[in-house]
Amino acid sequence: MLTQTYLAHLPETLNALKQADDRWTELRSPSSQELTQVVSKLNTTLAHLDYDVIVAGGTLGLPIALTLTIQGHKVAILERGILKGREQEWNISRDELRGLVELNMLTQEELDQAIVSEFNPIRIKFGDREIWTKDVLNAGVDPIYLLETLKQKFLKLGGKLIEQATFKTATVHPNGTEIHYESNNQSNNQSNNQSQSISAQLLIDLMGHNSPVALQSRDGEKPDSVCLVVGTCATGYPENTTADLIASFTPIQNQCQYFWEAFPARAGRTTYLFTYLDAEPDRISLETLFDEYFRLLPTYQNITIDQLDIKRALFGIFPCYKDSPLVPDWDRIVSLGDGSGAQSPLSFGGFGAMMRHLIRLSDALNQAISTDCLDRASLELIQPYQPNLQVTWLFQKSMSVKLKQKLPPEQINQLLADVFGEMEQLGDLVLKPFLQDVVQFGPLTQTLWRSSLKSPLILFKILPQVGLWTLLDWMRHFVNLGFYTAVDGIIDRNIPVLVPFLSAQSPAFQYRIYRAIEAFKYGSGKDYHPHNNEDAPDNEDVQPYGGLQ
Ligand SMILES: Cc1cc2nc3c(=O)[nH]c(=O)nc-3n(C[C@H](O)[C@H](O)[C@H](O)COP(=O)(O)OP(=O)(O)OC[C@H]3O[C@@H](n4cnc5c(N)ncnc54)[C@H](O)[C@@H]3O)c2cc1C
Repeated sequence: MLTQTYLAHLPETLNALKQADDRWTELRSPSSQELTQVVSKLNTTLAHLDYDVIVAGGTLGLPIALTLTIQGHKVAILERGILKGREQEWNISRDELRGLVELNMLTQEELDQAIVSEFNPIRIKFGDREIWTKDVLNAGVDPIYLLETLKQKFLKLGGKLIEQATFKTATVHPNGTEIHYESNNQSNNQSNNQSQSISAQLLIDLMGHNSPVALQSRDGEKPDSVCLVVGTCATGYPENTTADLIASFTPIQNQCQYFWEAFPARAGRTTYLFTYLDAEPDRISLETLFDEYFRLLPTYQNITIDQLDIKRALFGIFPCYKDSPLVPDWDRIVSLGDGSGAQSPLSFGGFGAMMRHLIRLSDALNQAISTDCLDRASLELIQPYQPNLQVTWLFQKSMSVKLKQKLPPEQINQLLADVFGEMEQLGDLVLKPFLQDVVQFGPLTQTLWRSSLKSPLILFKILPQVGLWTLLDWMRHFVNLGFYTAVDGIIDRNIPVLVPFLSAQSPAFQYRIYRAIEAFKYGSGKDYHPHNNEDAPDNEDVQPYGGLQ
């Protein structure tokens, strides 16, 4: 009811919310989702290839398409709508955007112009415990400016942008992939749907969470968990300088722990309510969560809703799959972005996840295309297993409640207050990477060790909550994280020997070894380098990494 009242002036948003809720109901339905088979295989060779690469889905597809165009590949983007950014900024840490400049996609001036808001300090709050930090996820990027600037460069370099073109099916041939799409030309107010096809050596699927290619790959599987997000951007807040990265001030209710986020934005102040849950049929709807947002926002921000001028409402359903990143099912097709589950299950920052990996992805895709390493096994190396992402599942589970579970109402707040309190004491080199979805073995071990010394019963508290299987599975990833960290250290020390050795090997061999080196680097979180951090160590433990070639 509250949502309908406070968002009555945004009828299109209410409509979109209803559609999102229908999708959420479908995800929770006990019967498995109806699957459309969109990818098939044929053993005949294509006589002609139109492009080197086709990128289906233009939002985060554009930076990928542009970097490949800069590297000399012939690229086309298929986009269902008109390729333009949304109004709401993407928050990210400034340093994570360096790939855009290093890969010559933006000049430093253009990057500075794309960052339209910056704010400090940043608060983390659980119950009464407050921790303050700065320079983490505190830069707001304007998606409209960013995508328009990248789009103009892409077109200038000869990239082909096919808008209002909906991907329908793909047929994988031994030498390429043929993509069939429906072009929806609006001429004289008449919609004119036409089926068309184009072909390329490689199809990159960047069609988001509902990508038909990714859904087929996942075989209609239910997500292992979901993050629901609702919020608004509004003016009328008396205070709008500081930000909350994550804040929680209520006990468990509706079998959910509510987390909040708030930050200054160009159009006002953005506030989000988000929660982690499973996709059980009886879970709350998105609209009910929005009602909860409007009920609790006055307490959270110390305002009344009537004093706000709500500019826009925002929401999202982020399905997370343990089996991520998505392993390619076919030769010549790879999924990236949200659809591939590349981001941490703790965050809905898919833009940040893509930017963090942009240099790595650009190198890997360029090499794969140039060396024709486009079979399924080679493409799998582009999105490798990352133990540092897998360990975050335990944290996500410990921040959520099962549908029929009875937990002490303050258990989650208390646990998070204790763990983050330890991180704060260990300093920025432990706290900051974690807040940016980069979990490292040393800092994680120190945090867990100190937390269990302080609260020896911590394990017994979380065991019934997360379950034995989750804990055992976590241990496996934790051990792998340690192993990846050790191997990455060995590789780093031997780079002067490795590089000349590798340059004498075949391109396909080089492709595989470089992917393995990156997998250890990124899988151990050692790609993180605290440029902006006053506490940056002098030791070689944290090394800048910009690709090896
Ligand atoms: C409320 C909210 C706040 C967020 N805040 C942040 C933030 O602060 N920082 C951050 O890093 N991330 C944030 N995100 C997440 C971020 O927006 C996504 O991770 C990012 O947009 C994912 O990009 P994508 O290209 O993978 O998928 P999408 O954004 O879903 O884009 C998919 C693209 O594919 C196109 N497409 C879909 N189907 C077809 C088809 N059949 N044929 C052709 N084209 C198709 C779509 O039109 C679209 O352009 C937020 C998301 C939401 C909802």
